[in-house]
Amino acid sequence: MKHAKSLVVGNWKLNPGSVAEAKELTKAVIKKTKSYSSDATVVIAPTFVHLPDVRKALGSAPILLGAQDTHFEERGACTGEVSPVLLAEFGVSYIIVGHSERRALGETDVQVNKKIHAILKRRQIPIVCVGERERDKQGNFFNGIEAQIRSLATGLTAAQIQKVVIAYEPIWAIGTGATATSEDVKEMQLFIMSILTKLYDRKVAAKVRLLYGGSVKAGNAKELHDNGGMGGFLVGGASLSGEEFAAVVAATL
Ligand code: PEP
Repeated sequence: MKHAKSLVVGNWKLNPGSVAEAKELTKAVIKKTKSYSSDATVVIAPTFVHLPDVRKALGSAPILLGAQDTHFEERGACTGEVSPVLLAEFGVSYIIVGHSERRALGETDVQVNKKIHAILKRRQIPIVCVGERERDKQGNFFNGIEAQIRSLATGLTAAQIQKVVIAYEPIWAIGTGATATSEDVKEMQLFIMSILTKLYDRKVAAKVRLLYGGSVKAGNAKELHDNGGMGGFLVGGASLSGEEFAAVVAATL
């Protein structure tokens, strides 16, 4: 199913380096994406500590706030963590989980699934990253993607899975300048759809929003969008420039 609007999410990671710069970047994103707001849902995910200032800088602009992670517990002995409840207080409606940079620090499929349940409980939207470390010619990496999808969907009803955004992010393409080809992306879109169809049914699978992420920028976004079959992008490096990010958004229209 084609979603009415594309979805483009900027993952700022540990950037920029100050509150002043975060506000400046927010203003640039507002200015440059203004004309696309009726056709695309735009989300920016700053660091936790930048959330209040970015929220203030957004004002009434049609850009939504995202977070880069959460814990699955609402409170308690979880040093250094935040919860979906706390993030909601700062206006966060989208939360990235299972990013490969978090998985590299030890986040497991089981934790990712718990986080998805916790996020949905607060009526926020999880953006769940899946992706292979490398591709082998035999296509065994598809098994790993299937395992990640099955795990993330554990315990989710048909109604719940339709609220989940799945971002296909091949790890070898993140921040490297290498991108999957649009044929690879299309193949993965069909593959993920086929797993979701097995787990639920075709109608439900078609309603799950899929994104591509991995070195998306102004120069490759149109080709990846037009032929990759995904419903938008998760953008890292290119989301740190208002102009570049807006060009990626424009490519999805
Ligand atoms: C990401 O970190 O989610 C990402 C896609 O990064 P980049 O666009 O820089 O590859």
